[in-house]
Amino acid sequence: MSAVKMCALCEAKKDFNFILFAGRKIFVINCHICCRPMAFTMDHHPKFTYEEREEVRYAFYKALRLQGHIDWKNKNIFDHANAHLR
Ligand SMILES: [Zn+2]
Ligand SMILES: [Zn+2]
Repeated sequence: MSAVKMCALCEAKKDFNFILFAGRKIFVINCHICCRPMAFTMDHHPKFTYEEREEVRYAFYKALRLQGHIDWKNKNIFDHANAHLR
């Protein structure tokens, strides 16, 4: 039996159909729970770094040309820092 727990976000980032944006430090996908765009860190850590936050803003507003405000609170998943665009 494997001790490694499967991580939904690590699985999602292998599936290119889900990925809206792949940057240097973050990914953006459509959240499968609330269907809003969600950014998350590539690595497992619960808080965005300053550089990651900058890249999230860049991805949502510049690369994807979306509007709204960024909800920085982790939702449902705590292995990766994650943020939703509302
Ligand atoms: Zn993961
Ligand atoms: Zn969601």
